[in-house]
Amino acid sequence: MHAARHRRVYRPHYHHHPQFPALLVLPVRLPRECLQRFVSIARVNTAKNRETCGLLLGKDKGSKYAVTTLLIPKQHSTSDTCTMDEEELVLQFTEERHLITLGWIHTHPTQSCFMSSVDLHTHSGFQRMLPESFAVVCAPTSNPAFGIFRLTDPGGLQVILDCNAKEAFHPHPDVSVYTDCDNNHVQMKDSALEIVDLRET
Ligand SMILES: [Zn+2]
Ligand SMILES: [Zn+2]
Repeated sequence: MHAARHRRVYRPHYHHHPQFPALLVLPVRLPRECLQRFVSIARVNTAKNRETCGLLLGKDKGSKYAVTTLLIPKQHSTSDTCTMDEEELVLQFTEERHLITLGWIHTHPTQSCFMSSVDLHTHSGFQRMLPESFAVVCAPTSNPAFGIFRLTDPGGLQVILDCNAKEAFHPHPDVSVYTDCDNNHVQMKDSALEIVDLRET
């Protein structure tokens, strides 16, 4: 998948926000039900050993971001890849609704919960546009079944942006290229989630 265009947010208090002195990125609220709802939506594909992907869209709330909408784009997938189709429909949806792409979510039908090299390259496109962007991996047949990740920055983001490997799946330098972020900048909240499935249109 490719990251949707996003306006760069001007944040005068970015480095000096009194409430979040240790964070380099603003917090993002994610509705608690999102992960289970997505796994349910993906169940048919999961049973066929096919991935499913979705976009996590939301709003800029000033000192934080909030995911409001789970969008399932038209897509095609294999056991270890998922590709959006008709991306212009996604752009149209986000622009009409004034939503920002805050993250993306996909399943690993049989594999464990980690970021593959393909996932890292996909995510670098999102995180380059918005530092707060995060990736959720749902691995329903594995334990842990969920992971929320982002590229380390400084560090992993540049490694991936500079990587010119030609094969889809390939190794990266053995440094901490990506990190688990569910305990700090992504915060689960009991907030409403709208789900829109473009596969049905
Ligand atoms: Zn993956
Ligand atoms: Zn690479």
